[in-house]
Amino acid sequence: AVVVGRRVRSKRKWRRVVGVLRELEDNCETTFGRLRQVVDAMAVEMHAGLASEGGSKLKMLLTFVDTLPNGSEKGTYYALDLGGTNFRVLRVQLGGGRSSILDNDVKRQPIPQHLMTSTSEDLFDFIASSLKEFVDQEGDAESSVDRRRELGFTFSFPVKQISVSSGTLIKWTKGFAIRDMVGMEVSGCLEQAMTRKGLNMKVAALVNDSVGTLALGHYHDADTVAAVIIGTGTNACYMERTDAIIKCQGLLTTSGGMVVNMEWGNFWSAHLPRTTYDIDLDADSPNPNYQGFEKMISGMYLGDIVRRVILRMSEEADIFGPVSSKLSMPFILRTPLMAAMHEDDSPELTEVGRILSDILEIPHAPLKVRKLVVKVCDVVTRRAARLAAAGIAGILKKIGRDGSGGKTPGRSRSDNRIRRTVVAVEGGLYTSYTMFREYLHEALNEILGEEVSQHVFLKVTEDGSGIGAALLAASQSSNIQQCG
Ligand code: BGC
Ligand code: MG
Repeated sequence: AVVVGRRVRSKRKWRRVVGVLRELEDNCETTFGRLRQVVDAMAVEMHAGLASEGGSKLKMLLTFVDTLPNGSEKGTYYALDLGGTNFRVLRVQLGGGRSSILDNDVKRQPIPQHLMTSTSEDLFDFIASSLKEFVDQEGDAESSVDRRRELGFTFSFPVKQISVSSGTLIKWTKGFAIRDMVGMEVSGCLEQAMTRKGLNMKVAALVNDSVGTLALGHYHDADTVAAVIIGTGTNACYMERTDAIIKCQGLLTTSGGMVVNMEWGNFWSAHLPRTTYDIDLDADSPNPNYQGFEKMISGMYLGDIVRRVILRMSEEADIFGPVSSKLSMPFILRTPLMAAMHEDDSPELTEVGRILSDILEIPHAPLKVRKLVVKVCDVVTRRAARLAAAGIAGILKKIGRDGSGGKTPGRSRSDNRIRRTVVAVEGGLYTSYTMFREYLHEALNEILGEEVSQHVFLKVTEDGSGIGAALLAASQSSNIQQCG
């Protein structure tokens, strides 16, 4: 009787936990129909964001980048890449022919946590010092020449550009929260710090990481029309016709186009499948009500969604043993760990067991429990990847590359043929998380259909955000007529 009673209790326990899982699955559902709605919403919001300032949660920011690098760029340029988990300094030597990036030296370092929430002076002094160290080490003859070096600065946050080389910070995202910096001119902050460190350099281009990625993508492949970042944060940019940028009347560029930084992390639509975990995560974040899309998709958050689900399951029934206090620590389960659990293909799920025990202090989880954890990772990542795919399809729809045709009135059928379309992609989630990447591809194929998919290529653009900024420093003229 005792044994039977235990078995019944254990069954009830599992039923409750499976209930939590089922509810998660239901609320994360991304059916084909729902993805189509997200695609449409993305395209509609893009229009709205281009029509008027504040017309949409999509800011659709002007970048003042009107031409993309084509391979003729020449000279030595530096680049700084700030915005994710790591901070990078690069020197890029351009030889003046496509694919002739002769030399590219990189120094990477993590950004000390305290600097993300300190003062702008502290942050920029750190960056300028690191840059100075790098420049001082350069062994070439150029170091003796007292010339003013040119720098491409990748600053991966929403910036209201004033020109191709300057702009003010609109809002921090990801883990950054330096109050005194919002509204300040970003290149000025860096240049002042460089002066303080005795470094003779000027910012020739201030760019978002998505824009840098588009630049490098286009440098390698002229059919590249958009770029997507899926890393710590997420974003996209693309080349838009100036006459479609209604909110900026009289914008004149030589190419007739301009790269628009969508800031799609802040995209929102009622069609997005949202759970209570998302709502709680948002409420606990330093930027509640912002970056809703980003919080469902990007590397900073996915692990934390999983942590919240495990906590809830653990509270529901003691299948994880007593509720571990680690489960209440925000961001303790980083996304790379989540990926490692998700992709554990050992029969006993050893890696899952190790992470549960070492990181979350849940020892001796039986196989059944480990499998459950893998399932949770799968649900969360699948939703993220499919939503990112819908976002990409939304851009393709907006620029008439989704095969829906009829986008350009007056054009003959043959002009509306599907053109080869390349989207440059960067960010650890896409490059290092195989399951994520596979789910994304699968969903994109599903949305676009086989015929169109054949013409759409996602290309990883390694170091795009850094090298791209150097390319833009080399290629941008600043004779753009502003909105009037
Ligand atoms: C920022 C974007 C950036 C993206 C990827 C987002 O949080 O708002 O500007 O491009 O992260 O780094
Ligand atoms: Mg980056």
